[in-house]
Amino acid sequence: MNITRRSFLKAVAAGAVITATTGCSNLTVSSTKVPAVKKIVVLGGGFGGSTAAKYLKMLNPSLDVTLIDRFDAHTSCPLSNEVIFGLRDLSFITLPHKVIADKYGVNFMQAEVTGLDADKKMVHTSEGSIMYDKLIVSPGIGMDYDVENGFDSEMQKAIPHSWIAGAQTIQLRDKVQNLKKGSTLLLRIPKAIYRCPPGPYERASLMADFAKKNDCKLTVIDPNPGIVSKGPLFEAGFKELYGDVLTYIPSTTVQHYDKAKNTIVTDKGSFTADLINFIPDQKAGDMAFQLGLVPEGKKWAPVSPITFESDVFQDVYVIGDAIDPAITDTPKSGVIANTTAKLVAETIVREYAGLEPILPAMGNSCYSLVSPHEGIYIATVYHYDPAVKRIVVKNGANSIAKERSAENYNNLNSWAENILFDTFK
Ligand SMILES: Cc1cc2nc3c(=O)[nH]c(=O)nc-3n(C[C@H](O)[C@H](O)[C@H](O)COP(=O)(O)OP(=O)(O)OC[C@H]3O[C@@H](n4cnc5c(N)ncnc54)[C@H](O)[C@@H]3O)c2cc1C
Repeated sequence: MNITRRSFLKAVAAGAVITATTGCSNLTVSSTKVPAVKKIVVLGGGFGGSTAAKYLKMLNPSLDVTLIDRFDAHTSCPLSNEVIFGLRDLSFITLPHKVIADKYGVNFMQAEVTGLDADKKMVHTSEGSIMYDKLIVSPGIGMDYDVENGFDSEMQKAIPHSWIAGAQTIQLRDKVQNLKKGSTLLLRIPKAIYRCPPGPYERASLMADFAKKNDCKLTVIDPNPGIVSKGPLFEAGFKELYGDVLTYIPSTTVQHYDKAKNTIVTDKGSFTADLINFIPDQKAGDMAFQLGLVPEGKKWAPVSPITFESDVFQDVYVIGDAIDPAITDTPKSGVIANTTAKLVAETIVREYAGLEPILPAMGNSCYSLVSPHEGIYIATVYHYDPAVKRIVVKNGANSIAKERSAENYNNLNSWAENILFDTFK
């Protein structure tokens, strides 16, 4: 924390008293006033955007906060693997934006964001243009398909990745439900860096569980040299629970998609199946590119590792999955999207109160299922290191489950209730 005595006195004079900072769990501003009503616009109402809008109003109710999303409800990716395999209802992960709008006084606008005029401080949407003093952008991820090698729009429609939850979650769930006994399944893992490092291996585990119960066979092809996250724990599950139905092939480079044969051609041979789930490589969400936040030839949005202000435009902040990994070791997770949102909300409120931003320190706790009722976890602490000007893992601050257990499954449920409440309710 870096507050000068002068700036603190200025803040007290302005009526702002910030009682807690890092970690953001106790952020409170008692009695806040800013000279003129400041207009904050938040684009994208997922894990980053919804948290930012809610916490801005909690920190300073006098701010005019508008949240814009193309849908009236966000569908959570966390727990969506469970929905695909019939373990949880879609309603549990459907989170209407109306809830934080009504509870905290956030203005919600359902619209497609189409452009940005940073000089005029104006965002363009399908429902008209809107001015801002500060803009927070949380666009999530986009898919980096190799269109020239057969992964065209027709393929993309027929073979859902289901890595952005919503319509494709239902599409894949229905495909799974319609599989006959004895079918073959194929899952392609994306190349790191991608959204939710352990997520594809959780999907592989639940797919393998389905295969085992339905006399099916599953092949998993992975471009990475091995399991990207929680490796030994997933490996144990693959071997001990699914050894007879699952074949895992690492270091597999996809070359093209053969539409006529419905086959994925790789350097390790050609693969087809009754059900293919191809999760492509990833980049920042399309909105980040549309708004000019990703420089030519790059995949992610460069930002300050302290304030998350865009390197391209002043008073524009990028949070969540779209952040360039060049400035941070944190994974692309809902927890980190939620935390970067709180840090930016606090930075903005502090700036209006004449206070310096705080230095980022954050934790990521992450649960995954290895079977329908057994979970595993990893928890890591990150902090800003001024020597390298990046957010890095704090020495030794890393803890991983010893083995899969029913207790971790129960903890996963508590974690989920907690993060969904903190973000969307
Ligand atoms: C299967 C799976 C499991 C996961 N499990 C976990 C987990 O257990 N724990 C965890 O921490 N993380 C998990 N994640 C990762 C987590 O979902 C993401 O890291 C998180 O959603 C990132 O938040 P975000 O705000 O960056 O993007 P999102 O949450 O995707 O939000 C982006 C929002 O922007 C909106 N939007 C985009 N473009 C436009 C536009 N042009 N106009 C209007 N609106 C737009 C979208 O509708 C969306 O609501 C999982 C992900 C997957 C795929």
